[in-house]
Amino acid sequence: SNSVSDDYSVQRTNDDATQCKYFAIQKGYWKDDFISRFANSSANVAEARRFPEISMGYWARTAAVEKYVREFLTEFDGKVQVVSFGCGFDTLFWRLVSSGAKLSKYVEVDFSSVTSKKIRHILKPVGSGSVDLKASFESEAAVSHHSDLHAGNYHLVGADLRQANELDQKLATCQLDYELPTIFIAECVLVYMSADASSSLLKQIVTQFRKPAFVNYEQFRTSDAFTKVMEQNLGERGIQLHGLEMCESAEKQEERFRDAGFKSVKVMDMNQVFNSFLDQDDVARIRQIEMLDEMELLQQLLAHYCIVFARF
Ligand code: SAM
Repeated sequence: SNSVSDDYSVQRTNDDATQCKYFAIQKGYWKDDFISRFANSSANVAEARRFPEISMGYWARTAAVEKYVREFLTEFDGKVQVVSFGCGFDTLFWRLVSSGAKLSKYVEVDFSSVTSKKIRHILKPVGSGSVDLKASFESEAAVSHHSDLHAGNYHLVGADLRQANELDQKLATCQLDYELPTIFIAECVLVYMSADASSSLLKQIVTQFRKPAFVNYEQFRTSDAFTKVMEQNLGERGIQLHGLEMCESAEKQEERFRDAGFKSVKVMDMNQVFNSFLDQDDVARIRQIEMLDEMELLQQLLAHYCIVFARF
């Protein structure tokens, strides 16, 4: 029943996310001093033609995930672990630390092929004018198997999230404290796994961690038209994805988090996030960057993405 696309194409969705974020950052949607270390600057970003709606969507996604994580850190005075599943080349760890946010531990997980690339980017020589990512670590970076990096409060490990044992073993090398409040992030990740696989992952977390929270951002409300546009879009960049298992509704999202054992679950589509959850001064600012003639396309796009915040 699992027609989810081949692992190679799934891994490549990270390149796409990174380039889209890099593009939006260069346009001024938000600030990120770290992404240029991961983005492919030779892929001519300036020439890439992207709809403003895409950049606005990426801005809302990044801002919303960051807001949930920062609120959780504040609530527990930084005595919090963050675990990012399917982290890709995400830079949240560096954005948090450089802004002075306190946290106990930050763990990132992705396929080994992706984590080994991320490690190479982290460790490569620092050119003039670019930041040293290693400077944010509490201690010297130790790399093992090319795919795992441990550096005090920061850990990056390679594992397939569908393989419970493998994931377990890798998380164990990060010395997580199962008693501490721990916030998990999955930003456009669960949708690439079968519904069964993501449900067992959620259950595994709730079983192991005493105070888990989860931020899940992804496509939902399947419609043939939307799926087709999305697959076509990725297809144009050589990424073949078919048969994604999207949750069909907010109710279904809530249900799977409750079934896994999370006590409180809030689901918003990204229109709600845009119009009420995010700071409306920021919304007003990003609306000025590339004026839209009409809001229709943006609203349609945002309606197909949701953010779930679930907690113990
Ligand atoms: N979260 C990052 C972001 O938002 O920038 C990357 C998003 S990218 C669309 C999806 C990521 O999830 C890819 O890096 C992919 O390799 C990872 N991923 C998907 N399925 C996975 C699995 N079964 N195990 C580990 N990583 C997975």
